[in-house]
Amino acid sequence: MIKFLDLQKQYSSIKTEIDNAISDVIEKSQFIGGYAVEKFEKNFAQYCEAEFCVGVGNGTDALEIAIEALDLPLGSEILVPANSFIASAEAVTRNGHKVTFVDCNPNNYTVSLDSVRDNLNANTRAIIAVHLYGHPCDMDAIRKVCGPEIKIIEDCAQAHGAEYKGKKVGSLGDVGAFSFYPGKNLGAYGDAGAITTNDCDLALKCRKIANHGRIAKYDHAIVGRNSRLDALQAAILNVKLKYIDKWTAQRIEIADNYSKQISHGENLILPSREPWAKQVYHLYVVRSKMRDELKEYLFEHGIETGIHYPIALPKLEAYRKHAYKDENLSANKLDSTLLSLPIGEHLSDREVKLIINTVNNFK
Ligand SMILES: *Cc1c(COP(=O)(O)O)cnc(C)c1O
Repeated sequence: MIKFLDLQKQYSSIKTEIDNAISDVIEKSQFIGGYAVEKFEKNFAQYCEAEFCVGVGNGTDALEIAIEALDLPLGSEILVPANSFIASAEAVTRNGHKVTFVDCNPNNYTVSLDSVRDNLNANTRAIIAVHLYGHPCDMDAIRKVCGPEIKIIEDCAQAHGAEYKGKKVGSLGDVGAFSFYPGKNLGAYGDAGAITTNDCDLALKCRKIANHGRIAKYDHAIVGRNSRLDALQAAILNVKLKYIDKWTAQRIEIADNYSKQISHGENLILPSREPWAKQVYHLYVVRSKMRDELKEYLFEHGIETGIHYPIALPKLEAYRKHAYKDENLSANKLDSTLLSLPIGEHLSDREVKLIINTVNNFK
């Protein structure tokens, strides 16, 4: 079976380094904050070309805390793409703001600028720019359409190392949120996340919120919460950060082979990459009217696939009453056609060829 994701194989390739990093944290017994966390925050800020990085508990918290720190007036409307993981919307709702769903474009699946334009109103205060599947959003165009007042929160959960016009995501909007969920391009061995920004005050505020509103031990300036980056996870991430560029290059090579060699047309639509984008291919998503049959066929031929996402956010029960929904969003229909092919450094050249040939032999 060709796996969609193979974390065991990745671990075997870096086992000694990972085991040593974990032992080191345990031997020092510095489990909350400390050396490993500080080192990762510094390394990751540098990697993202951002001034500041604040480690937090997970990617959803990163979004939620980033939005809280922006201090938007209660009842603000925030634009959220209809095709994303639910966390992109949850973080808005949990802050007491209103989600307004916007469409995705059918080429690279990031936010549709026409839909953003159509849904802006006097209460719109921010947009969650999701760099979906590792393809950066058109940040300059979003800024132009939204104007200077609207806050741009980058959801970078699928886009570690992606670049927009040569600049890394996470430092392009007002604030960036990363997830290190195990299956992400840079994944921890449990939950972990980070906030990146070039705004010093905002970074301090995020850190305060994530650490009980603390200014000194047992002195609390605001009502915060507990969402810190675990030291064991930070130590693991410090090791894996050294390999991310190599693994990303392998993802891009596979994607380029798919795009060149998979026969496509009206029955199978491949994703396209903008010329200004360095896409890091968290996912390689194709579209077919016969999605379910294709998925089954690939499974029978030993190829695991995924669906991201099977139900567009506006159609979820959780969002039945929580959001403004435009029934005409194309994302509401697209969800039944999306199929994610395996991609990642775990695939051999032979497996990539096999995937291409098998897809090409379908019907
Ligand atoms: C994974 C993901 C998140 C949430 O990250 P967690 O670490 O699982 O909380 C948010 N947004 C997107 C687009 C994601 O893919």
